[in-house]
Amino acid sequence: MNTEGNIDTHQQEQEQLQARMKRIRRKILILSGKGGVGKSTVAANIALALARAGKQVGLLDIDVHGPSIPKMLGLEGHRVSAVEGGLLPVDLGDNLKIISIGFMLPEGDSPVIWRGPLKYNVIKQFLKDVVWGDLDYLVIDSPPGTGDEPLSIAQFLAPDALAVIVTTPQQVAVSDVRKSIQFCRKLQIRILGIVENMSGFICPHCGKTVDIFKTGGGRTMAREMNLPFLGSIPIDPNVVTSSDDGRFFLTQFEGSPAAQAFETVIRLVLEQDNAEKELFPMNNKHTDPVRHLKIAIPVIDGRLCMHFGHCQHFAMVTTTGTKPDTGLAVEYLPPPSHEPGALPRWLHEQGADVIIAGGMGSRAQELFRQSGIEVVVGASADTPENLVQMYLSNTLTSGQNVCDH
Ligand code: ADP
Repeated sequence: MNTEGNIDTHQQEQEQLQARMKRIRRKILILSGKGGVGKSTVAANIALALARAGKQVGLLDIDVHGPSIPKMLGLEGHRVSAVEGGLLPVDLGDNLKIISIGFMLPEGDSPVIWRGPLKYNVIKQFLKDVVWGDLDYLVIDSPPGTGDEPLSIAQFLAPDALAVIVTTPQQVAVSDVRKSIQFCRKLQIRILGIVENMSGFICPHCGKTVDIFKTGGGRTMAREMNLPFLGSIPIDPNVVTSSDDGRFFLTQFEGSPAAQAFETVIRLVLEQDNAEKELFPMNNKHTDPVRHLKIAIPVIDGRLCMHFGHCQHFAMVTTTGTKPDTGLAVEYLPPPSHEPGALPRWLHEQGADVIIAGGMGSRAQELFRQSGIEVVVGASADTPENLVQMYLSNTLTSGQNVCDH
């Protein structure tokens, strides 16, 4: 084929791809710095939750090195069906369609050796040829890292792609997550936020969360990088059980702390999506919106009240401006009633991201975390402004959570 012919084919393919992608309102790449952090689990459950929220959703598993969606959803052995005009996704009903690169691979455990250009072409073919129809969301389980494959996907989707970055508490300390963030920024992919997976362990005896590794790093990193934090999902052995059974964790273990954490993530994804519409009505910029933190502190006589149940007010401190000119705005609100669970609900309604307290029982800490609020305990009876300054400069540390079963 001559060069002109190649250019024509390339252009034709590009047009087909764009025509297909135009029918999809939002494309969300689920990214991680490394494999094994729960990226596919998060992708599958985000897709399901969006579908349950009434959105038309496609889940595209393009993790060429280890497509785990077929096994996770009991679709092993399924083969891709080709129809005129493209490849048909599996329609699971209830607004959710799925296609995986695993549907095209030989069965069994034999590893597939992909040559670079083949991977690129398969990824392009998937994006170009899958007949999704009209979708609200396409959730894409991308290969881990920031190498050639995620790059090809992002380039095919840019400038429309959005990203959710999945990490674990151990991983946030290393540079992989920063690399994923930089990767998105370079490609002008707007990051919807960071999810910290395997964050603490739900004790099977007492049901409480035990922080095996230091948690909260995902939130700290999100704050440092001026990104939304979407939530912490605890380690729950039932996540593995449901994946082994080929069932969605969210439906099988509805109401569990990990399922509730997933629901928080998804609510924030939807909120971010709506926020984008408000922030960027003529959106072409794809910059991360400036996100201000709201920090709640129980106070008595203008200083932190060591027992939050006895406080006179809650100081709601909001960060203003952007680094290095971050300022603080403080508002004092009367506390809600003393019923169990009222405070986490109330603070959540007030939009609090963090609560700084003196002492707090582990059950109360858990309730706040389930509401997507970071808890910092062990703070001294200082003024709200000083405490927030210490918090922002990372000099306030969280006390240990004790499992008291
Ligand atoms: P990745 O896509 O990043 O390689 P997976 O989603 O395949 O990761 O998850 C790797 C393993 O960890 C799977 O066995 C999965 O069931 C398990 N897993 C993921 N998230 C959790 C969690 N929150 N609690 C317990 N196990 C989890």
